[in-house]
Amino acid sequence: MTYDAIIVGGGPAGLAIASELSRTNRVLVVEKGIAGDTKRSWFVPLNVVDNVVRPYTYGGVTRFLANTYSGAKAQWQARQFERYPYVDEKRLLPFWVDTIRHNGSDVVDRCAYLAHEVDAAGVTVKTAGGEFRGRMLIDCSGYDSVIAKQYGISREDYYWWSVFGAVGEHPDGLGGMEVGDYMMWQTFADTNADKNASLREGRPVFEYEILDERTSFSLILYLRKVIVPREEMEPVFNRIIREEASTAAFHGMNVKELKYGWYPSGAVSQELARERVIFAGDAACWTTPCGWGMSFILNNYREFAGKLGDALMEDRLDQESLEEIPSFSFRERGEIVLNALMTHFLSNAPAPMLDRFIDLFNAGNPNHVDPIYCEKVFTLDISVDETRIVLEAMLKEFELKELAAILPAEDYPLLLEEAAHFVAGSVIDEVRDFFGLKDAADAPSGTRNPGFDFT
Ligand SMILES: Cc1cc2nc3c(=O)[nH]c(=O)nc-3n(C[C@H](O)[C@H](O)[C@H](O)COP(=O)(O)OP(=O)(O)OC[C@H]3O[C@@H](n4cnc5c(N)ncnc54)[C@H](O)[C@@H]3O)c2cc1C
Repeated sequence: MTYDAIIVGGGPAGLAIASELSRTNRVLVVEKGIAGDTKRSWFVPLNVVDNVVRPYTYGGVTRFLANTYSGAKAQWQARQFERYPYVDEKRLLPFWVDTIRHNGSDVVDRCAYLAHEVDAAGVTVKTAGGEFRGRMLIDCSGYDSVIAKQYGISREDYYWWSVFGAVGEHPDGLGGMEVGDYMMWQTFADTNADKNASLREGRPVFEYEILDERTSFSLILYLRKVIVPREEMEPVFNRIIREEASTAAFHGMNVKELKYGWYPSGAVSQELARERVIFAGDAACWTTPCGWGMSFILNNYREFAGKLGDALMEDRLDQESLEEIPSFSFRERGEIVLNALMTHFLSNAPAPMLDRFIDLFNAGNPNHVDPIYCEKVFTLDISVDETRIVLEAMLKEFELKELAAILPAEDYPLLLEEAAHFVAGSVIDEVRDFFGLKDAADAPSGTRNPGFDFT
């Protein structure tokens, strides 16, 4: 038999899309492990949670930057939404598996994708569980997509989130932390002379969210141009939660479940489709520079699946037609530069500079910025004028040479070109003078990352 679509990957992207597409099409999901079994966990902005997903969410973040070591006074109550709910991954993903099966489609576990061949009538997919035939292939296999590699799609220039952490139980209570707290971007003074292992120079940031009266999810994250392996992250995480003076509330925590993974940041691959093949989720870099991979999926899966259904019905499965399907409309150019700048801060700024950035949200700071803008950057809901306010504060707080030091030369043109669209001319002229560029046209060609150019 021939499936309408074969989906590789039973993570949130594959299952969400299949749950919709299987309403009108015969779909097969192949998963190399167990579909819906994930080492990830998510909190998301309230506005991406639809009525179907809502019953599978709980609690949520209500206070940001709570108790961040360096910016303790900057904490604030969530304002854009009353809360940022947690997704119950142990219930939502199995619910999607059940929905797909209930709709008459198939989900097969322990069935790793190996290879595929496209011909005029469809796609033959070779897996560890045998060969399957479909009219099209949807790659939802995540950040390390074999299929993208088979097409020669390179991600070498991307920034990557590397995350390692744990859901843990606090038998002696929360030690002053409160349900709903989200502590982010904590840095540490140097506690190790070895630069690679140093918390200041090698710098992960530490974060935690308090899930309920006894449970936290704490993690370290790195945003770098390379993927940090698990073996490197695990001892750093353990050192932070067991030994650092400022994490005393975690020293007695019982680890219930490890959570970790990697995902791309800051770009949506422009290579979103090939003949009879389309990429989605992390495999298509459906993520934002602030790391909202799951939010991006929740915000887009229905429309994406709807358009795929139309393409299947009209038999428009050529590369050109499939490339037109993804349209991520919720970003303005202005927020992209701010996100790009955030990316550079989180990845390249030394710990004290990151602390100063956090301190901008502190009411006592002379260059204070209303924290609502921080939330708006996160939720991709900031206007051009608001972006300008944040950027101007950053340019007042930091010397241009400090900012230049965190921007790798190959990223200058990207930032200048994006910035030119909305920052006041005088500021831009100053930046251009500093870099010795008269205008955006002087930027070296071919170096701009086209991934930021969403429509
Ligand atoms: C620890 C952590 C915390 C996060 N927190 C948040 C958050 O708070 N909010 C947010 O919005 N985002 C968050 N993210 C990002 C989010 O998890 C990802 O963007 C999201 O999981 C992407 O979903 P996906 O289905 O595309 O990929 P994945 O979740 O990676 O799923 C891919 C699936 O494909 C399967 N697969 C891979 N190769 C094959 C193969 N050859 N054959 C068959 N199957 C295969 C894998 O086993 C997996 O099940 C977090 C990520 C991590 C790691």
